[in-house]
Amino acid sequence: MGQLLLDSCIPSSTVEDADIVLVNTCSIRQKAEQKAMSLLGRLRILKKSKPDLVVGVVGCVAQQEGKKILQRLPYVDLVMGTQSLYNLPALLNDIINNKKRIVAVEQTSDFVIPPFLPEIDSGPPHKRFITIMQGCNNFCTYCVVPFTRGREISRKFNEIVDEANFLAQ
Ligand code: SF4
Repeated sequence: MGQLLLDSCIPSSTVEDADIVLVNTCSIRQKAEQKAMSLLGRLRILKKSKPDLVVGVVGCVAQQEGKKILQRLPYVDLVMGTQSLYNLPALLNDIINNKKRIVAVEQTSDFVIPPFLPEIDSGPPHKRFITIMQGCNNFCTYCVVPFTRGREISRKFNEIVDEANFLAQ
């Protein structure tokens, strides 16, 4: 969301007032996936009365299902997986300006987590999150993380320290 605020977006207090709605999904439990699908069903009705509304599905279910979501839900404009998060403003601009429907679920082993991601300035002033790694290599039998978040990728030590120092200041 920090990326969107930097890109001149303003948070909307209701779904009905929004021009862009992104459904962030989790695939760890079936229940969470069903809830996301149910919300998407309600967005279909909203989009009928607001054709310019941009509807996106992001996160782990998007990563897992990919273009099947666009095929199943013809009113969805964006399916964005876990490594494309950092491209979100560009993807949204492409959808809005070029009337595209986009699936962005590519995963690569040379993926680099960008430094200094903008964060929403809320909560306790002495507390901030710093991403240090993403994904997992362990493949525990019951877990989808290595498939949805990809293989383990760590940020460089110096980069993490620089970001911590920057935030502390
Ligand atoms: S170690 Fe990795 S694969 Fe195992 S439960 Fe944790 S995230 Fe999932």
